[in-house]
Amino acid sequence: MVEKYIFGIDIGGTTCKAGLFLEKGELLEKWEFPTDISNQGEQILPKVALEIQHKLAEYEIKQIDVVGVGIGVPGPVSEDGVVNGCVNLGWGCKDVSLELRELVGCDVKVDNDANVAALGELLAGTGQGKKSLILITLGTGVGGGIIIDGKSSKGAHGAAGEIGHMLVNPLEEQCCGCGRKGCLEQYVSATGMVRMGKRMIRENTVIPTRLVEEGLNTKLIFEEANKNDQLAQLIVEEVGDILGMAIANLGVIVDPEIVVIGGGVSHAGQILIDVITKHFQKYAFHACKSTPICLAKLGNDAGIFGCYGIMVPTK
Ligand code: ZN
Repeated sequence: MVEKYIFGIDIGGTTCKAGLFLEKGELLEKWEFPTDISNQGEQILPKVALEIQHKLAEYEIKQIDVVGVGIGVPGPVSEDGVVNGCVNLGWGCKDVSLELRELVGCDVKVDNDANVAALGELLAGTGQGKKSLILITLGTGVGGGIIIDGKSSKGAHGAAGEIGHMLVNPLEEQCCGCGRKGCLEQYVSATGMVRMGKRMIRENTVIPTRLVEEGLNTKLIFEEANKNDQLAQLIVEEVGDILGMAIANLGVIVDPEIVVIGGGVSHAGQILIDVITKHFQKYAFHACKSTPICLAKLGNDAGIFGCYGIMVPTK
């Protein structure tokens, strides 16, 4: 029988990550190429098409043997593959599915980058063998993807899974990037954690600590917490408390089989998982208390696995 192939391409603001897969899931090759965002990103899709053509020639694959191309983009995507504004790529409203299909001549499916990362973790990472999963990525911002019955949830406006903008503190005075006040990412993203840490350092008068405001970063906070610095431990506890509460709330809405934590902040490792789990246990609805909270496994590769995943219907 002739082999069939699937391309998974995760388009980021500076780099596109690409993977060539066999239809049954084996990754043959992964590679990267720069994202050209000049002129409202008009060269992005032609470049993606070119990369695909080159790879087909290199592997001597006939176009008829390509099942399709799964695409991840950093912005909201409707069910029919229309991107509704991608600031990082310079795109306004764009029918990515249709435009790329015309360039490559095969089926194209598109989803949000956080959703494909979540699907990637479900198919080939920490969530392997599961049907439902929530991925929370703690980076510069907080991203989220929700998978139910093996499919990502997009919602009516492509906003489902925007976990970073769950309201957790209506008393907050500073603005979030989204224009509201008190969103989850204002406290538990890398930027948010440092902001909160600096605030706690300023207000602290009694707790002995080695932490100072200048040069504070999340790596330092976790390192000092591991070395028993009391204020660092307090900051980590606060992050765990807020995330634990947010995950407990997600539990009564989605009730996933597993919650996966990824992104740069997750490099802190087990100390982060332990503190989130402790506070989650305190807040969780009784039926959801056993939901495991785990570290993501695939890192930056989660996207390409998820892009592959949107081209194959899960059983
Ligand atoms: Zn927000």
